[in-house]
Amino acid sequence: MRILGGIEAGGTKFVCATGTGPDDIHAEIRFPTTTPQETIGKAIAFFEEESRRNSLAAIGIASFGPVDPNPASPTFGYITTTPKPGWANVDLAGPIGQALAVPVGFDTDVNGAALGEGRWGAAQGLDTFLYLTIGTGVGGGGKVRGQLMHGLLHPEMGHMRLPHDWQADPFEGICPFHGDCLEGMAAGPAIRARWGQPAETLPPDHPAWQLEAHYLALALSNLVLTISPQRIILGGGVMSEPRIFSAVRFQVLELLNGYVQSPAILQHIDDYIVPPGLGNRAGVLGAFALAETATYD
Ligand code: ZN
Repeated sequence: MRILGGIEAGGTKFVCATGTGPDDIHAEIRFPTTTPQETIGKAIAFFEEESRRNSLAAIGIASFGPVDPNPASPTFGYITTTPKPGWANVDLAGPIGQALAVPVGFDTDVNGAALGEGRWGAAQGLDTFLYLTIGTGVGGGGKVRGQLMHGLLHPEMGHMRLPHDWQADPFEGICPFHGDCLEGMAAGPAIRARWGQPAETLPPDHPAWQLEAHYLALALSNLVLTISPQRIILGGGVMSEPRIFSAVRFQVLELLNGYVQSPAILQHIDDYIVPPGLGNRAGVLGAFALAETATYD
């Protein structure tokens, strides 16, 4: 059995693990994201220690971004224009691959999670699907006809612009680039800024949740119309309030208004907009799945 390494590289914490899949994780550590040098050094030290027991076939890195996921580019494996202090234009994949002498699979955190959900989770058997995370930020990735979504760079679904009724919601948004884009209105820090308390402390009947479902449903209906996914998986900390799923589904049906004539939406929306099958392990298991792709090269 090939042992894989996976890194879920988040803006606030890194999770590193070794194993072969969801039922076989050998070791795991998590630590806060500090400076690139210290954080990458800790990841390398963990895998060096683990490789003394079992050699690793490859490492997958599912990273916060924006990133350069193009293997033909001189900055492949870099975090590029992130506003996170100290992390802009940082080579993440290079030092890890060199220190451990293994192939590295590298992509966005959401493309990684999508790959993992397709391999082991809620998107098994599908070839066109999306994975969105709604947490500290909002990001989206996925597969189209069996291929992870890349193009000019990679999708940035979290920054799509949405209709904003300033009378109903005078909040100006928190995205440093766009103000009231999807992330600016619906990420965890936007909820905290708008209501003065974090999402996890808001009661289930608080009006925050209907408004949150409103912005998510606007974004999802745009994505249904542009990408035609066979399923949409919603993860991230904000989605751990279970009742938000039914509100999002209801509002997506209202917004589409019967136009997309598929039983998947009209009759089975509970199986169309779903939580991750891998739960809060979607990130690190997505990194395993990225490691697997690196072993095919
Ligand atoms: Zn934005």
